[in-house]
Amino acid sequence: AKVAGKNCHRFYSRAMDQAVERRVRMEQDLRGAWERGELSLAYQPVYSLADGQLRGAEALLRWQHPEHGAIAPSVFIDVAEQSGLIEVIGPQVLRLACEDTMRWQQAHPSADQMFVSVNVSPRQLRSGDLPRQVATTLRDTGLEAARLHLELTETAVIGDEIHASGLLARLRASGVKIWLDDFGTGFSGLSHLRRVPVDGVKIDRSFIADVLRDPDDLALTTAIIAMAHSLGITVVAEGVEKEGQYAILRERGCDLAQGYWLGHPVSASDFSLLLA
Ligand code: C2E
Ligand code: CA
Ligand code: CA
Ligand code: CA
Repeated sequence: AKVAGKNCHRFYSRAMDQAVERRVRMEQDLRGAWERGELSLAYQPVYSLADGQLRGAEALLRWQHPEHGAIAPSVFIDVAEQSGLIEVIGPQVLRLACEDTMRWQQAHPSADQMFVSVNVSPRQLRSGDLPRQVATTLRDTGLEAARLHLELTETAVIGDEIHASGLLARLRASGVKIWLDDFGTGFSGLSHLRRVPVDGVKIDRSFIADVLRDPDDLALTTAIIAMAHSLGITVVAEGVEKEGQYAILRERGCDLAQGYWLGHPVSASDFSLLLA
């Protein structure tokens, strides 16, 4: 048994070495990926449930690796976050998203009320530089502050609520909208909304996935919508994959929705076709 344990240990440490090696290599590849043109943004449309109109887009980062092909953001964002590279990539994402949105507005004047949502990682928020970056980007691109929505996860806000609340208050004072992403997955949930100043919440797609089958998920979703509305907060449902989900969310008074049933993330030029 002892020998097996030893082998076992050796096996695990080798597997761990390989995992560490993979991460290190990915980090090296990610450095300079923007300059090499491997990173791009995809835009997923967000629709109003009340009237079915297109209201905005969420910018989602894509990495086309020269050897390994498309790498999932859930994998490489984590590497970027751990290594600190997100502090380089994040501002580039913010700038490109604002530039693309300005281009859509210029080509389609009817799109001048469209918003663009940009994901902001916990590390970007903690760095404290975000308000300055946002101000510079809005000034340089000419995008109206209220058109920019920043999506933060609950984990970015929890732990350092005082610091986060101060930053968010400064951002909101400049006119930018703050959204809480993946809402409902953290344990803090609704009580947070009283302390952290936000404009909207995005109900996590794990709730939406089961909203037609699981009465608990429907009850929770309905409660989130009611609670948010009583606080003057807008609600987005993400991961809407079926017409039935869309219908029930609409019936429950949810404000906005995005998901494969409504539209997949597409390139900036394909997105502008939705505006024509
Ligand atoms: P997220 O912010 O929750 O983004 C929504 C994810 O759900 C996206 O995955 C989107 O493609 C996917 N999705 C949209 N509709 C549906 C649907 O109907 N069904 C299902 N199953 N999935 C749907 P994606 O693009 O792979 O991004 C994964 C995560 O990576 C994002 O989750 C976000 O946390 C992070 N991420 C992406 N881009 C950025 C970025 O520019 N900066 C930062 N910090 N994080 C990013
Ligand atoms: Ca998001
Ligand atoms: Ca989300
Ligand atoms: Ca469930």
